[in-house]
Amino acid sequence: ALPVIYAITPTYTRPVQKAELTRLSHVFRQVPRFHWIVVEDSTTRTELVARFLARCGVPYTHLHVFTPRRFKRTGMPRATEQRNVALTWLRQHRIKRDAGVVFFADDDNTYSLELFEEMRSTRGVSVWPVGFVGGRAYERPLVSGGKVVGWYTGWRPDRPFATDMAGFAVNLQVILANPRAQFKRRGSQPGMQESDFLKQITKVTELEPKANNCTRVLVWHTRTEKPHLANEPKHLKDSVVIEV
Ligand code: UDP
Ligand code: MN
Repeated sequence: ALPVIYAITPTYTRPVQKAELTRLSHVFRQVPRFHWIVVEDSTTRTELVARFLARCGVPYTHLHVFTPRRFKRTGMPRATEQRNVALTWLRQHRIKRDAGVVFFADDDNTYSLELFEEMRSTRGVSVWPVGFVGGRAYERPLVSGGKVVGWYTGWRPDRPFATDMAGFAVNLQVILANPRAQFKRRGSQPGMQESDFLKQITKVTELEPKANNCTRVLVWHTRTEKPHLANEPKHLKDSVVIEV
């Protein structure tokens, strides 16, 4: 059987949340052997997300953990706790015999179906280009002789792994074999989440290049514009309550 792809999606309550999750679910629903781990940045599992997941047609696990307020400042890494809760869930609910690939899928990115075909064969840690990051049209691992030998990036080329969260996947065995590997707040500089995590589980020379030796962009770090809600009624509200 094909290894199961576990996509870990941190998500938080805001006007576009359901629209983002809807967009993602339309891709994920078409991926065979797929399991969506949705982790809300919230003190509870919200009704909106629970209802959405129950109807979306994607096999899922619904978790939550609230980011402490002191970590919710601009310039601070986002969704550290949520990704770690998902890793803990995998370690508690999956065993060595289970074949799987783990991928971090933020709720606002854009994913090509082909990306999941590429990552399915990840034996250790695989990498590929990501569109619209690092202040460039794309960032990518540089490949020579089938090995990653450097990074094409416009931002902090000194990063040991100059890749975005959407630019790599990890075999489930690697997650289980490194039970202490996690995303860090303490000692982590802005933008170093990926490198700080990856250096706990792999080496650059061991990375597996995907997407035709890292020459194809199959995922984009898109960001959704905030909707304009200045004309929301303050008093004369709609006569029914409608979930958006
Ligand atoms: N996120 C979260 N809590 C927050 C802010 C963001 O759980 O307070 C999630 C968000 O839904 C997304 C991921 O963390 O899945 C990355 O956040 P965002 O897309 O805002 O980061 P950026 O793309 O700007 O780096
Ligand atoms: Mn984003």
